Amino acid sequence: MEFNIIMIGPPCSGKGTHSKLISEKYGLSHISTGELFRQEIAKETPLGVLAKMLIDKGNLVPDSITLKMLYQYVNSLRNDQGHLLDGVPRTLAQAEIFEKFIKKHHIKCDLVFYLHSPEEVLFQRMFKRAAEGRADDNDQVFLKRMSNYFELTHVLTEYYLAKGKLISISTNAPIHEVSATIFARIDQYLAEINK
Ligand code: AMP
Repeated sequence: MEFNIIMIGPPCSGKGTHSKLISEKYGLSHISTGELFRQEIAKETPLGVLAKMLIDKGNLVPDSITLKMLYQYVNSLRNDQGHLLDGVPRTLAQAEIFEKFIKKHHIKCDLVFYLHSPEEVLFQRMFKRAAEGRADDNDQVFLKRMSNYFELTHVLTEYYLAKGKLISISTNAPIHEVSATIFARIDQYLAEINK
């Protein structure tokens, strides 16, 4: 039975880490728009060149460009077990367009995980990741990404809360504890729908 998950959270909240762990455990296709952009950047495609200019400054890539890339990728990768969307939708407009897309294709969005940690913890993680060489992790760009998150993305927590899909998870704990909490919530959901 297919089930689909969306991951939301500010930069360095643990989306990438937990998306990978969830996808591996439940056999879901892990779809990260940030990772797709990084692949385009590495290949120096026209999309990659544009994305790099925006990402390096901490800005979002426009909705239409992001969704076009996402659909092309998703169409080539339908997985009967389900999909995990990491970092998309990231604006209300993306969420609304995406909602129409999934209705049209009879796809269901099952759960939305909102990962959060105190801001000082997010900063500590950013410094660690910057030291590991990720180009869009430095103080100035990080602040821009944070402000974009609160201006454009955070509203999605209300959007999915109103739909009864949002599960809020603190990631201010060791990774294995956080993932155990997430897995328990997924297992509980699967047990309920399989009753
Ligand atoms: P991430 O790896 O999810 O942190 O994404 C890295 C960067 O890619 C973000 O800071 C954005 O500039 C861009 N990006 C990723 N996903 C989206 C999206 N859904 N909409 C717009 N820009 C995105």
